[in-house]
Formats: sequence, structure tokens, C-alpha cells
Amino acid sequence: TSPISEVSKASLTTILNKNRHYYLDGKVADYIPELGKMDPKAVAIAVVNEKGLLIGAGDMHKKFTMQSISKPIALMVAVMENGEEAVFKKMGYFGTDKPFNHFSNLETMGKPLNPMMNAGAILTTSLISGDGQVPFDKILKLLRYITDNPTLDYNETVYASEKETGHRNRGMFYIMKNAGLISGSEEQLDNYFRQCSIELTTEDLAKIGYFFAQQCVRFDGDQRYKNPEISKLIQSQMLIAGMYEFSGEYARTVGLPSKSGVGGGIMISVPNEAGIAVFSAPLDAHGNSVVGYHMILDLVRHYNLGIF
Ligand code: GLU
Repeated sequence: TSPISEVSKASLTTILNKNRHYYLDGKVADYIPELGKMDPKAVAIAVVNEKGLLIGAGDMHKKFTMQSISKPIALMVAVMENGEEAVFKKMGYFGTDKPFNHFSNLETMGKPLNPMMNAGAILTTSLISGDGQVPFDKILKLLRYITDNPTLDYNETVYASEKETGHRNRGMFYIMKNAGLISGSEEQLDNYFRQCSIELTTEDLAKIGYFFAQQCVRFDGDQRYKNPEISKLIQSQMLIAGMYEFSGEYARTVGLPSKSGVGGGIMISVPNEAGIAVFSAPLDAHGNSVVGYHMILDLVRHYNLGIF
């Protein structure tokens, strides 16, 4: 049996309490006022084990915005529609030593590094067909399915602020439009801002981690989207770039496909086994949740979960 089946509410609570003090070492994202208002002490950890059962501790039902964790879901929609080859003709499978919003590669190679950083993610979302908000609605629909949570939605205020302040993202959008990678209007960029503004809980996030770990089979066994190739693709991209420029060191210390967002969430897939999610808003210099990272380290060491 998998070591993940040993995870209990008591062990998660111990891990959470041991690490929650690290919130003092981080800083809540404040590039828009709404994010700056988040409670720095709220903390949660959840596991969806190999049987699809949810175990959690802390503020598991507290909502936060997905931010960059929406990137793997947009990638899945884009690849289902266009095929992997067509999507990756326009972007690379490269890892990164650059922050999430870096223009890296756009000038030198004429295409984004990978779909987990902003440039590649903005391009990915633009490859989903449909006018106006339709591409976003497809992302939201898939997320509601994966989490089996029809109430999932985006936060209008966060969206409006992301759009208002997203000048670097707008810059990337137009460089890619100039290069012929993007053909539509700025409405496509709005869909990227909307996907970043989707609110969910740590529980929802652990279910998404499980879905990608388990060949895109849902936690309750529903196989409608089953797709081993897409699950391998997405986990590989999470492994090489899901934690921004910290991804390389994280591969050494944790060794699991993971995706973080500046809302304070981190989603982890234990391939062919389980999903894990952590939440705590204060971030380190790379944009990753400080308490979240420490909780993952403890969980992975204790249960020997790394893929290496
Ligand atoms: N909304 C943020 C941006 O695109 C998301 C960044 C992140 O979570 O890394 O700038």
C-alpha cells in the first residue's frame, strides 16, 4: 500500500501546528489591495489520498484566489482543443531561472519558455477557442467538474484590479501578438486575468492535484476526462516550472510536480497516487507560500512521497 494511505487528520494537524509560525517570514502579495487584505495567519493543508478520500486540517474552507494555479487547467483545455503539438509549436518545454512575470525568451527566441510562467500561460489561454468570455467559461467549467463544486467562480474585484494593474502581462500579450503567436484582441488577456481571480478552497485544490496525479480521473472515480498523456504533460510542466525560479531547488528538496500561486496556495500531485494542497498567504521572495513550503517538506519527508 501507498504511504499516503497512512496520512491522518492528526498527522496533518501536527505538521500544520509545527510550521504555522513561519508566516512571520513571508509577505502577503500586495500588488493589488484585495490580496493585501488576506489574513496572514490563516493556514490549511489537505490530502486526497489514493482512494480519493479527503483528509485535511486548518482553515480548509477558507477561499483564496488561484492565481498561477489556474495555468495547468488552462493548459489542459488548450491541449484538448488543439493537441499538444500545435500548442508547443508556439512555446517551449524549457525550465526557468526567471520570476513568473519575466519576458525571458520572448525577444531572444520569439516564444515563451513554458506554459507555467505568465507569458506562456497568457498564450495558452489565447489558444482556447471562442469569443469574449467563452474561453474562460471553458476553464471554469472544467474546474467545477474536477472539484465537483458548481459554486466555483471568479472574484470580480480581484479581476478588475488584475486588469487595471497588469501592465507587464499586457506587454507580453502585445509582444506575442506582434510575433504572430496571438491573433485575437485584448479580450483574450482578460480571460487570463479572470482565471487568476478564480476563488477556491484548499479542499478544492487537493482534488485538482489528485486529478492530474491520477490520469485526469476525478476523486470520485469519474473517468469522463481520463487522459494519461495530458496528465503526464501537465505534471512534467509543473515539475520544471511550477514553483517559478525555485523549481530546480524544489525538485531536489520535495521532488513532486507542484504549482504555486501568489494567492498563497500550492497544489501538489503525487503521480498515480494522491493530491495535496496547502494554503497560507505570506510569500517568500520567489512568490511561494512560506508556511506552505515548510508543511510540504515535512509531509514529503515523513511519508517518503518524492518521486525520486
Ligand atoms: N495574477 C498574477 C499575474 O499574472 C498571477 C501570478 C502568480 O500567481 O504567479 O501577475
